[in-house]
Amino acid sequence: MQTGLQVQIKEIAIIGGGPAGLAAAEILSLSGHTITVYDSMPTLSRKFLLAGKSGLNLTHAEDYTQFVTRFGAASERLRPALDGFEPDAVRAWAEELGIQTFVGSSRRVFPKAMKASPLLRAWLKRLESRGVNVRTRHRWVGFSGTAYLFDTPDGQIKAQPDVAMLALGGASWPRLGSDANWTVWLQDAGVNVSVLQPANCGFDVAWDEVFRDRFAGQPVKAVTATSNAGTIPGEFVITWHGIEGSLVYAHAASLREELAATGKASLLVDLAPGRSLQRLVSDLTRQNTKTSFSNRLRKAAGIDGVKLALLRNFSADTDLASPEKIATSIKNLSIPVVSTRPIAEAISSAGGVEWDSIDENYMLKAIPGLFVAGEMLDWEAPTGGYLLTACFATGRAAAHGIISWLTRSHLQ
Ligand SMILES: Cc1cc2nc3c(=O)[nH]c(=O)nc-3n(C[C@H](O)[C@H](O)[C@H](O)COP(=O)(O)OP(=O)(O)OC[C@H]3O[C@@H](n4cnc5c(N)ncnc54)[C@H](O)[C@@H]3O)c2cc1C
Repeated sequence: MQTGLQVQIKEIAIIGGGPAGLAAAEILSLSGHTITVYDSMPTLSRKFLLAGKSGLNLTHAEDYTQFVTRFGAASERLRPALDGFEPDAVRAWAEELGIQTFVGSSRRVFPKAMKASPLLRAWLKRLESRGVNVRTRHRWVGFSGTAYLFDTPDGQIKAQPDVAMLALGGASWPRLGSDANWTVWLQDAGVNVSVLQPANCGFDVAWDEVFRDRFAGQPVKAVTATSNAGTIPGEFVITWHGIEGSLVYAHAASLREELAATGKASLLVDLAPGRSLQRLVSDLTRQNTKTSFSNRLRKAAGIDGVKLALLRNFSADTDLASPEKIATSIKNLSIPVVSTRPIAEAISSAGGVEWDSIDENYMLKAIPGLFVAGEMLDWEAPTGGYLLTACFATGRAAAHGIISWLTRSHLQ
């Protein structure tokens, strides 16, 4: 069909209606082309809604020069997309949709309502008003030549869009839709996909049963933890299987890599970061040796409950034989982790479509006309709003890539 401007209207399929897919649909909805978002689930963006349960950390207000380094080895490749949708732009976008945001104490940015549903509602309304079609319960199940096959409640259908984008997410929380079944179909088509691994995940620890029964579910607050990722303050939670929580997630990539490389890894915890080693030694030395160990620890170091139990669990008797040794153990308690928790429980996944398989416009080199965005690409980042920002940003960048590809094809 020709418009008055002699621009051909094209059919664009976006497969996956999470944050990356919707961000692409929003840009493309202004292009004049016909946009259809397909998703396997009965409703869109279920993981985004789940992220809202913990407040929906949309982005981060730290200095942008720091922000762009948070994506590990992929930081350089992601940079142009992030430059196109910086954290300030994320906030402005949310506010344009009627969602006020605020900067929390850790410089994380949240919607004032601390949930995702009002934002998602406003976003979907905008897309609907711009004519974006949505096909839920349409599970993409692979290619048939140049067409895309979908399982639907009415049987299998074939779609033959002019251009398509995959925004299928990673492999965490598969029951919300992103099950990573796509990896095989893309690999068969010649796309390099690195193994999806848990990121921002918990770890198994070989607790003894007594400890686990007593402390599973308890937070370990106001500590610092050290790994190759550096020394980071925060808190974590004892779980039935091991440890999880924001402080553990911050070290997850480093611990995961160490486990893969050497078969073992430990989180080094300072149980009393507010007190120096010297102060702990002198405060412990002052205690009456006739009082119990736990009383001495509580009075001299403020350590009791779960912290005391951790200290006892992971210190040999000889490590607790003198004030100097106790203080050293408090400041450097090594918690050995055995393995990552399963990817299905992780906040996000690492791995995915490798960067050498896409061009600078997010188009798959092996499948011209097919673009990719979001968590299914090979990058990872800590929690802190980095994940959503990069999903929005790559979705938008891929949408711009589609527009310029269509323009180039039109001119040829
Ligand atoms: C508990 C939790 C809390 C989180 N909190 C935050 C947070 O506060 N801040 C933050 O930045 N990040 C957070 N994240 C991470 C963030 O939600 C994800 O990184 C983000 O949703 C990924 O977006 P995406 O669009 O790439 O993929 P997804 O959100 O996974 O969306 C992919 C979509 O593709 C669909 N799909 C998959 N396969 C198919 C198929 N074969 N056919 C059709 N459709 C398919 C799925 O149904 C889904 O709708 C959180 C994650 C979890 C699990």
